[in-house]
Amino acid sequence: MEPEAPFEPEERVLLVDDRGRRYLIALSPGSTFHFHRGSVTHDAIIGEEEGTVLQSSDGHPLLALRPTLSDFILKMTRGAQVIYPKDIGTILVAADISPGATVVEAGIGSGALTIALLRAVGPQGRVISYEIREDFAATAKANIEAFLGKADTHQVRIASIYDGIPERGVDRVVLDLPEPWRAVGPAAESLRGGGILASYLPTVPQVQRLTEELRSGSPPGPRGAWRLIQTSETLLRPWHVEGQSVRPEHRMVAHTGFLTIARRISAP
Ligand code: SAH
Repeated sequence: MEPEAPFEPEERVLLVDDRGRRYLIALSPGSTFHFHRGSVTHDAIIGEEEGTVLQSSDGHPLLALRPTLSDFILKMTRGAQVIYPKDIGTILVAADISPGATVVEAGIGSGALTIALLRAVGPQGRVISYEIREDFAATAKANIEAFLGKADTHQVRIASIYDGIPERGVDRVVLDLPEPWRAVGPAAESLRGGGILASYLPTVPQVQRLTEELRSGSPPGPRGAWRLIQTSETLLRPWHVEGQSVRPEHRMVAHTGFLTIARRISAP
């Protein structure tokens, strides 16, 4: 679909009311969207341009937009906890996910990070997702298809990444699972020299254990397989900007996760 094309049946649309409330719907001819300020028929949206402001049955405005990646992630069906958009942004840059790259990921969860990885590697790239739970993989695949359409650059393997990664010469390995130190050996075998491992973890003891494993050099070598091992966290502080009241919001998400990055040296 062309970005400037009018809204089509089955498409996801983000509706925003005059109080900033957001709703994500799939357009279905003959259906009606109801909210606390009246209703709008899907047929009134289909065929309109993105950015159009509709009138509800009660005379209230309703803005229709295509959802951004963040809009979609925050509203999509979630089986597992998703990675927040602010952390996805950091992961894409810190792990340097670029067009044409081959990326191995585990686990797929609800597919939030997968969508971002697929978009970043583009049509010439590849994303291979390891996941142990078939039900999560199914939810994730449905989410991915809802946002990106059918992605033939994506492969799902129902397997534990701790048991090994058969792919060789991989550019990046991105981990979002509880015991990433168990995936360090497989990642070392799978990544090419200069390749990047990125691991997203919620707690300090996990970061410590992973870093020790990376430093101990799995697989063991003179100085190990990994260099440039770094951990960071990303804090996003939203601001309130209205009249004279220009200040940080009173509330923010204080903690999500830490990101640990390491680079693979080439095999001796
Ligand atoms: N990044 C995902 C969320 C991942 S949640 C998102 O943005 O939506 C962690 C996932 O890792 C869960 O789905 C869990 O089933 C999976 N998992 C746990 N251990 C695993 C393993 N050894 N191999 C593959 N996947 C694993």
